[in-house]
Formats: sequence, structure tokens, C-alpha cells
Amino acid sequence: MNKKGMMVILSAPSGCGKDTVFKEICKIRNDVCESVSATTRKPRPGEIDGVNYFFKSTEEFEKMIETNSFLEYASYNGCYYGTPSAPVLAAVENGKICFLIIERKGAQKIMKNYPDAVSVFLMPPDIKTLEHRLRKRNTESEEAIKNRLRIAQFEIEDSSRFTYVLVNNELEKAVAGLNEILDAELALRNKK
Ligand code: 5GP
Repeated sequence: MNKKGMMVILSAPSGCGKDTVFKEICKIRNDVCESVSATTRKPRPGEIDGVNYFFKSTEEFEKMIETNSFLEYASYNGCYYGTPSAPVLAAVENGKICFLIIERKGAQKIMKNYPDAVSVFLMPPDIKTLEHRLRKRNTESEEAIKNRLRIAQFEIEDSSRFTYVLVNNELEKAVAGLNEILDAELALRNKK
């Protein structure tokens, strides 16, 4: 019998280190992959189209909505973000653990429509640490940073909807925690 794959929602306030945690988990497992989202946000320096995101115009993104191309999409900080369906469904079919690294509203849609998906919220140690990390990136206006912090408060208050909450205080511990969650969830799905 083929090994079953699964979708894993990894959500966290912007600047909480979810991309770093994902990069670390890729170093220790060969059964994980990441969905590449589409967005109307402008690329940050160093970001590559088709690798970090599929960068789209609003018109292009809205065409994708019309043609039902997304598992979920949401607007965040004035831009659209969405998970293209086909690659995720194919990856899960092929036994992969496919990560959706997405914000709160999109996470809720996936939890509702795909109750089998595992949901993990990565919690910042505290708001001050989060603010420091966001400012250190030095890529956004004061207004955008303030808005990301406002959104972070909502996200933290909403975290009880997730099956697992991991505090990202020490990277190594967060990665080890996530690794255990993945092993446990895979074992549940493949126990027959
Ligand atoms: P950033 O602009 O920092 O790359 O991303 C902003 C937020 O959008 C982050 O919380 C990120 O996880 C989330 N995000 C990225 N891709 C998607 C997506 O496809 N769908 C949703 N709902 N959120 C996304």
C-alpha cells in the first residue's frame, strides 16, 4: 500500500520564523515539500518568481479565483495571497507532507474544507521579540510594520483553533517539536 501524505498548515505572525522552521525541517526529513503561493505583493529583494511566490497582478490573481485555481486565498496587508490547488493535491497523493505556510484566514478555510489537514501555530515568545524581528528585516514602511503587528495580535488570539501550538523560543526545540508532530500524525494515518 502507498504511504499516505498529508497537508500541514503552518501559521504564525509575520516575522515569527516560520520559514526558518520549515527550512530546518527540510534538512532532517525527505518527505516534506512546500506549496508555492501566488500573491499580488511586490517581490522583496532576493525573492524569485516561482520559487518564493508566483508574483501576480491583481487582474491575474482574480482570474485564478474565477477559474477555481485556489485551495484557499485571502487578503492580507492589502494584498492577495493564495494556495494553488493542483500541486498540493498531487503532492499529498504522492505521499508527501505538503506544508501550507499561510495566514489565519486561509488556515481557517483549509481547516474547514480539509479537516484531515494538520494545523500548527507557531507562537512568538512575546510581541516585543516579534517587533524586533520585523524591524530587523528593514524592508517595510513603519505603517506596514504596525499593521503586521496589529494582525499578529488577532492571530495570537485565534491560535486555539489550531491542533498544535509551538512556541518558537529556541529554533532547535521548535523544529524538534514539529518533527515529532509529523511523525505522530503520519503514524496515525498509516497504522493499517
Ligand atoms: P509575506 O508578505 O510576509 O511573505 O506573507 C504575509 C503572510 O501571508 C504570511 O503570514 C504568510 O504566511 C501568508 N501567506 C503566504 N502565502 C499564503 C497563501 O497562499 N495563502 C494565505 N492565506 N496566506 C499566505
